[in-house]
Parts: sequence; C-alpha cells; structure tokens
Amino acid sequence: MAALLFRDDPYLRACEATVVAVQGDTVELDRTVFYPLGGGQAGDTGRLGPWRVLDTRKGATPDSVLHILEPGAAPAVGSAVEAQLDWERRHRLMRLHTALHLLGAVVKAPVTGGRIGEDKAHLDFDVEMQRLVKEAIEGELSQLVAKGVDTRVRWIIDAELDARPELVKTMSVAPPRGEGRVRLLEIPGIDHQACGGTHVANTAEIGGLRVVRIRSEGKRNKRVTLELAP
Ligand SMILES: [Zn+2]
Repeated sequence: MAALLFRDDPYLRACEATVVAVQGDTVELDRTVFYPLGGGQAGDTGRLGPWRVLDTRKGATPDSVLHILEPGAAPAVGSAVEAQLDWERRHRLMRLHTALHLLGAVVKAPVTGGRIGEDKAHLDFDVEMQRLVKEAIEGELSQLVAKGVDTRVRWIIDAELDARPELVKTMSVAPPRGEGRVRLLEIPGIDHQACGGTHVANTAEIGGLRVVRIRSEGKRNKRVTLELAP
C-alpha cells in the first residue's frame, strides 16, 4: 500500500520514495506521484532515479501501484529513489481529462465509455449521430474553458454514492471502490461525478480544444474525439 500523492496534489512532479517491492521489471514504492492506468486515463511515464518508467499500472491491492521499468536492471528493495514524472505528458493528460468532463456536460447523453491518451481523448455516447455537431460542440467547449471555473475534489463514503446514483455517469467505468470511500470531481455548474483521475485546477488551464473526429463505433457508441489545439 503506497501513499498516492497525485490524489491530493496532481501538480506534484516528483517525490522521494523508498522501494518496497521489485518483481522483474516492476517496482513498488512507499509513496508515488505516478498515476496508474485506470478510469480511462493512461498510466504515467517518467523516471525512478536513473531508471526509465515506461508505464504505470494498478497492483493487486487497492492503493498498490506498479512502476513498469524499461527491461534490464532495477533498483534494490529498501533503496531510496527520486520518482519523477514526464510532466509535459502528464499535464496534457490532465488537460484532456478535464476536457472530457466538459464534453460530458456539453453532450447531454449517457456516456458509454472513454479514454484519455497523451495526444487525444474520447468519450462514447449513447446518442443519435445527428445530435453531434462538431462546430457546436467546439463552441460550447471553448465557452466552458473561457469561463475559468475551478475544479474541486471531495471524498464521500460508498453509502452516499449508493444513495446518489446520478454521480456515476460513465456506464462502463465503475468508480474506484473497495476503500469504503469514493472520490468525486466537481466543476461547479458544469459537472459533478465520481472520478479517480488527475485534473487541472481551473478549466482555463485546458486551453484550446478541437473536435478531431465524430464517428459511430456501434449502435450505442458514438465517439467524439478531442485534441489539444497546438
Ligand atoms: Zn475525471
């Protein structure tokens, strides 16, 4: 079980940590700034001291994080390392992730899936294609970005989530459970839902967005793909 520093401060780029387990090329630390793949958001990359981290995944228990190193040597259990993110990449993920919360508010339809990569992000909606108009979506997104609304994180207990099913919006991505509490992201006036990912502090920080593609991926999946404007 590691201290997951990104939950309280997604802007932490590095931390000192102690290696608590090593298995092959995967390393666990007592604390980390690395976000593991989950909730549709890609796992972080970066370095543990001189070792390159290619990906980050969840371990077998809640709060365990596996740093997947480039094959080869690995640090020894008990050693101290500096865990350092590829911050440019992570910041893009934070901007795109927060952008998807705005997209979910703009397109008023059930969300059936989603993914956030370093270059683009998408949500799938159960909606008719003709309701998805590129220019209209881009226009509304840019208004919400320009509003400059602060994002907020709050924790509630599982029972409170059970009593408020409207807080679970993404049908195919169950909120992280098993800890007795669930993390909520709130963008006042725009969105409010269970989400364990990393977000920017204010919608203005997302910057320019482009809808690069709107495509049918099946009867109940109409996919809207976003990119950060260059
Ligand atoms: Zn989120």
